[in-house]
Amino acid sequence: MSGVEIGEPVIVYGCWGCGICRYCADGSEGLCHKLTSPGLGRPGAMAEYMIVDSPRHLVPIGDLDPVKAASLTDAALTQYQAICSVLPKIRGGQTILVIGAGGLGHVAIQLLKQMTSARVVAFDLGDERLDFAKKNGADYVFESNEDSVAEVRKMTNDYGVDVVFDFVGADVTGNLAIKAIANEGSIVICGAGGGGAKNSYGFAVPLNVCISTSNWGRRSQLMEVVEMAKRGQLQIATKTYTMNQAEQAYQDLHDGKILGRGVVLPNA
Ligand SMILES: [Zn+2]
Repeated sequence: MSGVEIGEPVIVYGCWGCGICRYCADGSEGLCHKLTSPGLGRPGAMAEYMIVDSPRHLVPIGDLDPVKAASLTDAALTQYQAICSVLPKIRGGQTILVIGAGGLGHVAIQLLKQMTSARVVAFDLGDERLDFAKKNGADYVFESNEDSVAEVRKMTNDYGVDVVFDFVGADVTGNLAIKAIANEGSIVICGAGGGGAKNSYGFAVPLNVCISTSNWGRRSQLMEVVEMAKRGQLQIATKTYTMNQAEQAYQDLHDGKILGRGVVLPNA
């Protein structure tokens, strides 16, 4: 393998495309029809060692802490692409709503504060998660419900928010997004909840809204978030587990006991 030095710290870009098609040529390997990913259909990284199919899927991290940097491959790249997809439409004086301030959402808040001048509102459930959103830079935090949508509409002189990032993707959050969005706003669905927002006609729903999906990100974008992390512009909250505790990590995730991301470490 060439392109990296032996012993060089790297992280692994998770979208392994064919390397040849038009998506791969553009760096968007996550869109490749032949996409596979470590841990999703082929051996993953929950082991002391892993085999990577090509040096192009390695991104050097320099002096970054590998434990903190590991999560950049998903928990920064995904939100970064989602934000970049609507960034040309974001202007001064706007308000952005982040639904779900967990493993993805808390970094989305940090990225939005770095990349835009918008005020950022976060929706989640429970004081602990709302405090977490606040600590990560949210200007306002609210319980995720329809009363809070009314508050946010009031804050925006009833225009509604300009962009919603839905990191849950359930029916309930999709409908909150539709109720919160302004005319000509953008809703980006990143969560895998399988839900959606109900459309209608006339003024029952906001007009000319763009609803899009966003999945993972490009190789070049992973390099960009690594660079941002090196500059101290984003920090992913992590809880670490040994390999023997991996099942516990999944249980904690299921039980909502991880604020941020769980990272399984090779056994020392
Ligand atoms: Zn391809």
